[in-house]
Amino acid sequence: MNLLIIGSGGREHALAWKLSQSEKLSNLYIAPGNAGTSAHGKNLNIHVSDFENLKSAVLEHNINMVIVGPEVPLVEGIHDYFATQESLKDVSIIGPKKLAATLEGSKDFAKEFMMRHNIPTAKYQSFDANSVDDGMKFLETMESPYVLKADGLAAGKGVLILEDLEEAKNELKSMLLESKFGIASSTVVVEEFLDGIELSCFVLTDGENYKVLPFAKDYKRIGEGDTGLNTGGMGAISPVPFVDSSFKKKIEETIVKPTIEGLKKDNIPYQGFIFIGLIKVGAQPKVIEYNVRMGDPETEVVIPRIKNDLVEILNAVSNKTLNEIELEIDSRTAATVIAVSGGYPESYEKGKQMTGLDQVSESLIFHAGTKIQDGILITNGGRVIAMTSYGQEHSEALQKSYKSLEKISFEAMNYRKDIGFDL
Ligand code: AMP
Repeated sequence: MNLLIIGSGGREHALAWKLSQSEKLSNLYIAPGNAGTSAHGKNLNIHVSDFENLKSAVLEHNINMVIVGPEVPLVEGIHDYFATQESLKDVSIIGPKKLAATLEGSKDFAKEFMMRHNIPTAKYQSFDANSVDDGMKFLETMESPYVLKADGLAAGKGVLILEDLEEAKNELKSMLLESKFGIASSTVVVEEFLDGIELSCFVLTDGENYKVLPFAKDYKRIGEGDTGLNTGGMGAISPVPFVDSSFKKKIEETIVKPTIEGLKKDNIPYQGFIFIGLIKVGAQPKVIEYNVRMGDPETEVVIPRIKNDLVEILNAVSNKTLNEIELEIDSRTAATVIAVSGGYPESYEKGKQMTGLDQVSESLIFHAGTKIQDGILITNGGRVIAMTSYGQEHSEALQKSYKSLEKISFEAMNYRKDIGFDL
């Protein structure tokens, strides 16, 4: 089979690494990819939203399956576009159509879906520019801290958590009336604050059957002790020590099954990954958000724990035979630590030469913001590489990743030294 992965992050490198191990693979392409993905296939210099050129590449390279990494092309309707092209009718796509992608593209849509199907989540109401006064009144009925969420995609920045009622009111006005997050905040979800520990649940579905993939926990803040600004993710661990078999069962029964059944009841076809952001409140799992793709950096610890042939699994997704697959999961822990460019998640410089990667033998290096220029490996983004290691315990896996990180360097390299220390 010839496969195309769309995206350019650590997630896509981890997928490329895994898919390239399959005997069923003939050729692998990654659009646009990064310096790491080029070791497993051919990078195509096409933007993830450039559907026409992606189509031409699929035809030119006889691609049989497209795996969509990030949310943007999904929310923009890449699957719908491909489905309407006669010349692409035999090409399978891993990733939902636009309607299902609205679970990530609109928080209001996701909350309504959860309400309709009795899926546990925070209490909420949604407001737009015509209901600002109602929003103010609703805030007065809530307790601090106040959670305000821009309805649309805001690159992970659209959620505000505020202690002070007046500040919450002002922010709500600024989101609705002054487009604080552009059109993403033309509707705002105001919801109850949930106090607990977060974890990520990944589900792969063919629309009929589903498989729960290994759980993971990620670390979003830039600073140690979970302080400072939110980032795309600074590290991750799988499995999650506090997710025991009874908690897993609770998640599957109260959240995963109702989600899959809900999609069917609502006539929303879905073939792909669902990433359910959860929070454990007391002993209860509640949904914080749905994403319609794998997480990054979680993919860099989840995929290395799956022993099966990933091409076989994805074929089962497109043939709706996922029920015939028996997942085999590595019992070891996988941990990843992300090295970022100094200044990230605010402004940072690119183009710094990276050295020492060839000295790393105990870990898997998944590239994110990297590229090769004039034969030299340089940084090309905020998150630069994910250093993933296995261990019998999470402490062992982390120790290996930290030792490996010491061997590599680039100017102003930064990483959190406390990933997994809270577990
Ligand atoms: P989201 O984009 O919905 O995942 O929200 C971003 C982050 O805000 C989450 O990962 C949580 O850390 C936090 N968050 C979102 N909703 C809530 C809530 N209802 N209670 C507490 N924290 C929340």
